[in-house]
Amino acid sequence: MGENVLVIGSGAREHALAWKLAQSTRVKQVLVAPGNAGTANSGKISNTAAPTSDHAQLTEFCKTNGINIVVVGPEAPLAAGIVDDLTAAGVRCFGPTAKAAQLESSKSFSKDFMDRHGIPTARWKSFTSAPEACSFITNADFPALVVKASGLAAGKGVIVASTKEEACKAVNEILTDKVFGEAGDTVVVEELLEGEEVSCLCFTDGIHVAPMPPAQDHKRLMDGDKGPNTGGMGAYCPAPQVSKDLLANILENVLYKTVNGIRADGFKYTGVLYAGLMLTKDGPKVLEFNCRFGDPECQVILPLLKSDLYDLIQAILDGELVNTMPVWLEDHAAVTVVMASGGYPGNYAKGLEITGFEKTKHLCLEVFHAGTALKDGKVVTNGGRVLTVTSIKRGLLAALLEANQGVSALHFEGAVYRKDIGFRAISYLQKTRSLTYKD
Ligand code: AMP
Repeated sequence: MGENVLVIGSGAREHALAWKLAQSTRVKQVLVAPGNAGTANSGKISNTAAPTSDHAQLTEFCKTNGINIVVVGPEAPLAAGIVDDLTAAGVRCFGPTAKAAQLESSKSFSKDFMDRHGIPTARWKSFTSAPEACSFITNADFPALVVKASGLAAGKGVIVASTKEEACKAVNEILTDKVFGEAGDTVVVEELLEGEEVSCLCFTDGIHVAPMPPAQDHKRLMDGDKGPNTGGMGAYCPAPQVSKDLLANILENVLYKTVNGIRADGFKYTGVLYAGLMLTKDGPKVLEFNCRFGDPECQVILPLLKSDLYDLIQAILDGELVNTMPVWLEDHAAVTVVMASGGYPGNYAKGLEITGFEKTKHLCLEVFHAGTALKDGKVVTNGGRVLTVTSIKRGLLAALLEANQGVSALHFEGAVYRKDIGFRAISYLQKTRSLTYKD
């Protein structure tokens, strides 16, 4: 006996979800669709070619294979209504409905929602006409502007403009040239916020909220936050910049207000809610909501979860979060460093052999796979972000050192990675107190 779980997705986030779910004594099997080399055949975890985009066929698959719950990694299936369809057909699926997922899938919906419910965010306006947007930009009293495609654009639809001309150019590219397709039918123009970015996530059953420890991602490709934006090059958790008081403020003014606001609007948010925040001098403000775990944040948050993730998800689906609040490893820190293909986020080669896995075995590491595949018995590169190397230690500095050691042990031709993950936490700790070996 035992339970069967289906995880949807193929990145390191999904590998981490499968890894954590497989630790549950109640779980017999974790299938990942489509998965990667890391989830191909590892203990209870294996890959499957389940038909994830056809929800009727997926329902059949789940019923035939005795799947007890479906856990969705990425945003696109949620926006496409996977939770609505599977739930209606009697399959338990963890995540928000398509309506609730609009908090991520439509920036104009989410900005309007935040204004209506008094959730702090940058001042903004949305447009479907390029001349109107450009005239607003020309007359705006904001010192600098950010232009965003309203729909899902795989993290690429945000342009931080340093001049009004640049902002207008971005508007024309999105609305007129349609560089992001339908995702750019509407643009949001907003004021530029200054401060440090942090990711505050929570579990929610639609009524109660359980915050996760705060994390920080590193979006730029190169050290010192230089180079192009990426899906994320590394993360750490907890972020010491978010004090207990600040987290309580975020819990009350962002996370609870959002969950209550969704309910007041007549639908319900269940699953993981992610608030991307700017810590401004006027307090935390929401940059974006995501309706699922972030990648790479997931790879540093889940290792700190002491509770059984399977039981927690079941409790959330039963509306029983209040009786099953998650417990976290309070005295540990996690750091993950992403190894990407040379050329990423532009063009890159695939099929390059990855070696060194055996050298990481004696370290306190989990190597979560992203763009990897198996070829002739070897693990080869198969995507932009290839591996995320996560260390879990008693203290941030120790975890940073261990994660970097892990990266040095692994090899594929042209690998790109940052050597300064966690630099803001270190500088924060240096400013606020002396660092000790425990850090
Ligand atoms: P988003 O997808 O809306 O979170 O935007 C992606 C990235 O653009 C964020 O992680 C920030 O680095 C940056 N960004 C978005 N909105 C703003 C803003 N109003 N002010 C400053 N930076 C922003």
